[in-house]
Amino acid sequence: MVSLHQKILIITAPSGAGKTSITHHLMKTFPKLAFSVSATTRESRENENEGVDYYFMNIETFKQKIQQHEFAEWEMVYEGKYYGTLKSELKRIWAFDKVPVLDIDVKGAIHVQQQYPENTLSIFVEPPSVDELKIRLQARGTETEDTLRARVNKAAYEISFKDQFDEVIVNAELEVACAQASKLVADFLAS
Ligand code: 5GP
Repeated sequence: MVSLHQKILIITAPSGAGKTSITHHLMKTFPKLAFSVSATTRESRENENEGVDYYFMNIETFKQKIQQHEFAEWEMVYEGKYYGTLKSELKRIWAFDKVPVLDIDVKGAIHVQQQYPENTLSIFVEPPSVDELKIRLQARGTETEDTLRARVNKAAYEISFKDQFDEVIVNAELEVACAQASKLVADFLAS
């Protein structure tokens, strides 16, 4: 059973809006935070490590965990690619008295908020524009033409949900966005 004082920090945004950079900044600034490692069925990228970036698993294993109610939330974020937050991961982090940071997609973030409404701070990171987001994703160099198109289309849709979150930060300049996020998190951790 989850007790009410167990906090969760959610950072959500369309892919490429800069939420990972902001999450890294927060992790460096606040030792109380611990990154919540998600499970996923997508292939690992060259620089990624099992259990650090994700728990990589095949679809059969993932679906089994869905049936056994092992996820706090899960989503098919991209066609055929599942991502989810394991309840065991939240418990692992709470067990050493830290606050899990969930870097997850918009729908997953809404589900976590609904499930743990008491002590959750959700921050939506908004890109300055969808065009800017496309440029950032291209520069990252991890996308094919198809996945780029999918991510850009999805971003426009996701921005329409921004009002459902506790706070919205526009990431026009990373340093400014990081400072704004830090202020919100400092208040949240002190509350
Ligand atoms: P990527 O494939 O670039 O690592 O992540 C793609 C998207 O999946 C990102 O928006 C990321 O935040 C989201 N994501 C990562 N882990 C989870 C998770 O556990 N649940 C949900 N709903 N989305 C996730």
